[in-house]
Amino acid sequence: RQQAFAAIRHLPAVTLDGVEVTLMVNAGLLIDVPQIEAQGAAGIGLYRTEITFMVAESFPDVARQRDVYKRAMDASNGKPVTFRTLDIGSDKVLSYWQREPEENPAMGWRAIRISLDRPALLRQQLRALILGAEGRPLSIMFPMVAEAWEFDEARSLLKLELDRASQAGQQLPSEIKVGAMIEVPSLYFQLDTLLDRLDFVSVGSNDLKQFLYAADRGNPRLADRYDNLAPAMVKLLGMIAAACNAQGKSLSLCGEMAGDPIAAMALLCLGFRQLSMAPTSIGPVRAMIRSLDLGRLLSYWAELQARPVSDLRSRLLVFARDHGV
Ligand code: PEP
Ligand code: MG
Repeated sequence: RQQAFAAIRHLPAVTLDGVEVTLMVNAGLLIDVPQIEAQGAAGIGLYRTEITFMVAESFPDVARQRDVYKRAMDASNGKPVTFRTLDIGSDKVLSYWQREPEENPAMGWRAIRISLDRPALLRQQLRALILGAEGRPLSIMFPMVAEAWEFDEARSLLKLELDRASQAGQQLPSEIKVGAMIEVPSLYFQLDTLLDRLDFVSVGSNDLKQFLYAADRGNPRLADRYDNLAPAMVKLLGMIAAACNAQGKSLSLCGEMAGDPIAAMALLCLGFRQLSMAPTSIGPVRAMIRSLDLGRLLSYWAELQARPVSDLRSRLLVFARDHGV
């Protein structure tokens, strides 16, 4: 199968009935960037910048960060890279930063919450990203946004850094896209007012599921308990996609779910057209897309929706088998 995937890696991710899907890779280290080419991906949909911080021995300064971001953009050969700002806390620990223990770290002081409470940290990162872009397009997204004001505040820090760069006579990115990750269900309920203010939305389905079901994503006892295709998750994903698509807002999904071909079938039905995943998942998902008649699947999907089923995954598996997907 690996050989079969390699053979199609430069063929477009288009369904039999002509629906194009953008496949991107998730990355965290510079060695991941060549996976764009290796997998024939459209770019990096999620660059986890905290990995650089996690493998360092102390906080990387602006120069060090700039170097990493610049090299990531250099190595992507002009393909887009979406940098996710620091998502530390919870399971992502920095050995050199002693912090108060927390009872519930996943729901604790983490990600954008730290970035807004320690604005110098975020501003340094944004400065390094602006410098690293060297006049190229720059795409940035903020993790774990739970309230619209958190996005606004992070964006205003970006504006401060852009003003600073232009006052210093530095070259600005040719274009800047700023997005929010939807990983906390509360953000869905603010999309009506927030969508106007952001350039794109990326669903972090790992955390979204964790917080929708109140189920620790790292607890092996819970690993198989709630499926990504369980009714509430599918419903929420559908509502997010509908809200974004109604406003023509760029939407992607970058959690593990995107790399599961059966789940990806459901995401296509819900209106997702951009998926970002672990590099090794690109082949299987591309193969699924290229053998799928989405129109036909949508008819089947509509039947399933008319009488909602609890075993969506097995129904989709049956469809895939019956139709040679
Ligand atoms: C997610 O939560 O789905 C996500 C993509 O972010 P991470 O896995 O890094 O928390
Ligand atoms: Mg996450």
